[in-house]
Amino acid sequence: MGKGFYDVPIAVNEPILSYAPGSPEREEVLKTYKEMYNSTVEVPLFINGREVTTENKVTISPPHEHKHSLGVYYQASQQHIEEAIETAVEARKNWAAMPWENRAGIFLRAAELIAGPYRARLNAATMLGQSKTIHQAEIDSACEIIDFLRFNVQFMTEIYAEQPESTSGAWNRLEYRPLEGFVYAITPFNFTAIAGNLPTSAALMGNVVIWKPSHSQMYSAKVLLDIFREAGVPDGVINMVMGNAAMITDTILASPDFSGVHFTGSTDVFKGIWQKIGNNIHTYKTYPRIVGETGGKDFIVAHKSSDPKQVATAISRGAFEFQGQKCSAASRCYISKSIWDDVKNFVTEDLKSFKMGSPEDMDNFITAVIHEASFDKLARYIDEAKAASNAEIIAGGTYDKSEGYFIRPTVIVTEDPKYTTMCTELFGPVLTIYVFEDDAWEDTLHLVDGTSEYALTGAVFSEDRYALEKAVRILENAAGNFYINDKPTGAVVGQQPFGGARASGTNDKAGSKLNLYRWISPRMVKETFVSPVDYRYPFLG
Ligand code: NAD
Repeated sequence: MGKGFYDVPIAVNEPILSYAPGSPEREEVLKTYKEMYNSTVEVPLFINGREVTTENKVTISPPHEHKHSLGVYYQASQQHIEEAIETAVEARKNWAAMPWENRAGIFLRAAELIAGPYRARLNAATMLGQSKTIHQAEIDSACEIIDFLRFNVQFMTEIYAEQPESTSGAWNRLEYRPLEGFVYAITPFNFTAIAGNLPTSAALMGNVVIWKPSHSQMYSAKVLLDIFREAGVPDGVINMVMGNAAMITDTILASPDFSGVHFTGSTDVFKGIWQKIGNNIHTYKTYPRIVGETGGKDFIVAHKSSDPKQVATAISRGAFEFQGQKCSAASRCYISKSIWDDVKNFVTEDLKSFKMGSPEDMDNFITAVIHEASFDKLARYIDEAKAASNAEIIAGGTYDKSEGYFIRPTVIVTEDPKYTTMCTELFGPVLTIYVFEDDAWEDTLHLVDGTSEYALTGAVFSEDRYALEKAVRILENAAGNFYINDKPTGAVVGQQPFGGARASGTNDKAGSKLNLYRWISPRMVKETFVSPVDYRYPFLG
């Protein structure tokens, strides 16, 4: 602490720009997109403030045009990872000792750089590298990351203000120390905001970080790193490494200074990391914090009393925006029989109207899925559904990877509520629907609760308050983010803290104080003003 109790700016959510035809933001982002499309980017490793290139480079391509090269990123050797660990631990000495208002200043500055001069560039990188439409990019790589940075600063000061009682004879102080060691941040492809938040939330609390972005998010990762550097993050505090994920992880988890992992990605990868940490437990100086937000099989359940048009709109947006590649995207639906025909008509009409193609053409609502492995997996499930006797495809069902990884948004209807695509996370624009009898509400809720290993997001639609109350109760543990009469996607930092339990994660709620608590190790300091000088208590006579 410096020389005052400083208030930080009150965090407010960044307004979403419209990008309507004729708007200046639309013109600017399209111009930036074109410039970036027609030039090439180099993404070196970033270790202790040094850009490192290697012999081992990989081409970066837009998923919607995979033959086009946007540039290259470089892959690390084991020696690079060891160097990153060593220099991060060294950098910790100054960073952990830095008064908090300096850390706050750096990350608040990063937020304003994104809100202003870097907005178009970060959005265009997200459109190009992850195939997001401008609206999907804006709510992610502009608004959500800005919100994370602003709100986390405010949450940090709220945590620091939480202090124990003191008496007149002693002063009790809680110091919120960073973890002793370094934090490993591993980020997924699907949100630029998550890629930015996982390293910065830990760094804000005074930790040094080794960040491994997804190889399918390299372009926007590079822009984020440029922003962190310009905002003033000192050398060695946030290091970025890419390459063989298993090698990087094994090297990091073998270090005695490893003190925590901040992960978002798929369930199996996280379980593997947890297992390795367990195997190495005798190596570490301190018990590592393990934070992971993982997969989902998110649901919408619609009661017979609900409005079919509202349910259909929640499906069209909640299952198919960003090609269903949001961890919160609806991928299984349960619809009451008496409203099914209407819901079906509205959804199929919506899907017919979806335009698909490059995000550069702003008429498109749907673009490509992230990479060939994802495309091939989705195509396989679609083909299986075509051949299955207990499933029927009522919309979509076609795919084409000649130019980009395009899968037409697909709806499967099944008579088997445990049909494979009702249970397995596909992470793409494929939704499966089960139609239930009107009088089977309670049984259906138990079915929803018991069908999947995940518990991330879920939505219930009902105009009947008794039916709603039953759903809220029976589905208590089926979702960490639960929506009433709304789609299950679109959580906003500071409003709906995000995360789930069961196989969906440790539920440490990104975008809230709860997450920041994981990156600190409090020290209790009691200062006694007049120390006793006789061991005898009065009862001893
Ligand atoms: P992924 O698991 O394939 O990759 C995530 C990260 O883990 C990447 O950086 C990847 O390189 C790394 N990785 C892969 N293998 C590894 C290994 N052996 N050791 C260490 N790291 C390894 O996930 P993805 O395809 O990038 O993202 C989609 C998944 O993420 C989905 O399952 C989705 O549900 C989940 N997700 C969850 C949330 C949430 O908040 N719960 C948010 C976003 C994404």
